[in-house]
Amino acid sequence: MSDNLHELLLAAQDSPGRPVLRSDDGSTWTMGDIDRLSRQIAAVLRRRGVQRGDRLAVQLEKTPEAVCLYLASLQIGAIYLPINTAYTAPEVAHIVSDAEPVLVVADKATALVGGNGRTGAITFHGPDGLLHSAAAIEPLSATEPVGELDPAAILYTSGTTGRPKGAVISHRALAFTARTLSGIWEIGSEDVLLHALPIFHAHGLFIALNTALYARAQVIFLPRFDVDSALNELPNATVFMGVPTFYSRLLADPRLDRARCAGMRLFTSGSAPLSADHFSEFENRTGHAILERYGMTETTIIASNPLKGDRIPATVGFPLPGVEVDLRDAESGTVPSGQVGELIVRGPNVFTEYWRMPTKTAEDLTEDGYFRTGDLATIDSDGRITLVGRAKDLIISGGYNVYAQEVETALGRIPGIQNCAVIGCPHPDFGEGVVAIVEPKPDGVTPSQDEIVERLGRELARYKLPKKIQFSDALPRNALGKVQKNVLRDTYRKTFA
Ligand code: ATP
Ligand code: MG
Repeated sequence: MSDNLHELLLAAQDSPGRPVLRSDDGSTWTMGDIDRLSRQIAAVLRRRGVQRGDRLAVQLEKTPEAVCLYLASLQIGAIYLPINTAYTAPEVAHIVSDAEPVLVVADKATALVGGNGRTGAITFHGPDGLLHSAAAIEPLSATEPVGELDPAAILYTSGTTGRPKGAVISHRALAFTARTLSGIWEIGSEDVLLHALPIFHAHGLFIALNTALYARAQVIFLPRFDVDSALNELPNATVFMGVPTFYSRLLADPRLDRARCAGMRLFTSGSAPLSADHFSEFENRTGHAILERYGMTETTIIASNPLKGDRIPATVGFPLPGVEVDLRDAESGTVPSGQVGELIVRGPNVFTEYWRMPTKTAEDLTEDGYFRTGDLATIDSDGRITLVGRAKDLIISGGYNVYAQEVETALGRIPGIQNCAVIGCPHPDFGEGVVAIVEPKPDGVTPSQDEIVERLGRELARYKLPKKIQFSDALPRNALGKVQKNVLRDTYRKTFA
């Protein structure tokens, strides 16, 4: 057996008749179907000259065929580079010129233009598409041998704090994640994973899909999250992996109840903070305590609340077995237990480098092998991690540290506020001034700026209170529902000018 992740996910001895993916149109893909199509795609890619170490960029809707393309890329030792399906032509062009793939596979015309002379392009579906050629070709049987540190993928980060960065991720990191998660969450062949996450991010691809394939679980493969399909499929599933917005949307629907979740074994949440209120509300409604966990594109997964043992809301649990964490202050010194510092992480889960960003890589990967996450956290005496926000979200106002997340949590408790984001904007006196952007509840009474500040003042020190409240109908969000604070900082940068 080589170190190619492909062998771990598609074991040759596996029973070909075993159902693996079911799409929402009812069609079932067995292991034999997936094995055959992915090897046929691998043969076409080879014929088109895609070699080990070449980047293969993909912008495709979420389908079982797209999963086969991913597996084919692994099989031939190429570097899989999925692109957010919402990205427009200029955004795709940025990634294509940065990563220089040999081939772009896409059905959207926007992705197929703009490559430089060395980048080819092919559609996936349609008469000239890759799938059409694959149907008529002998499957490729051999799996390319790779070293464990060879790159399997480049994933671009979500772009929450700036322009997305390409994280180069090895076969070993992905194998570690799939093995470890199936171990600690006890995912096995009896499980049915309800998969509603996009597969161009680490969460949907490496945490959800890889783990299910590795564990030989079945997957109900929804093309996207929508409340109706998720509620319809919950009775057929045992595991659901989501982001906080999935949970807030499910909670907003009266059909979410205990009976519907009776066959469920595990709900997980990650990618963004899950509010403690939603955690409790979900437990009251369904009887399930959501297991919150913490990861990043650069590290797939770092920490998880325990499967057995206390799942404590607003904490992200303990580092995974084999993963070390620590806290550092701004001068890279150690931080005493209970105090806030930047979380650093070391282990087989950590990425290799930022693609073609040697300076950024050297800044973020320390000499002693730790990765600086850019997230601020505390670690209590038994090792449990609580995130308090991102280093970039730390607002320094008049010399005082204000953690955006603390103010957001307090705002979230005020009636009439649906969502909110807190940022620092340049301020002539204070350096930065706290600004809250508030999305009111559509059917409620919206509190005024004075009422909001008065309510917050009952809980928070004066220097933490927003100096300005901006109202917005919809906060800018990315595909995982994360608020894009860089967009907000840009929009409101002149608030105190
Ligand atoms: P960019 O790096 O481009 O600014 P991003 O950091 O949002 O974007 P991702 O790698 O998708 O891109 O997200 C990782 C980040 O998501 C973490 O650094 C952390 O801030 C946040 N995160 C993930 N899980 C959780 C969680 N359970 N609670 C709070 N925050 C989380
Ligand atoms: Mg990041």
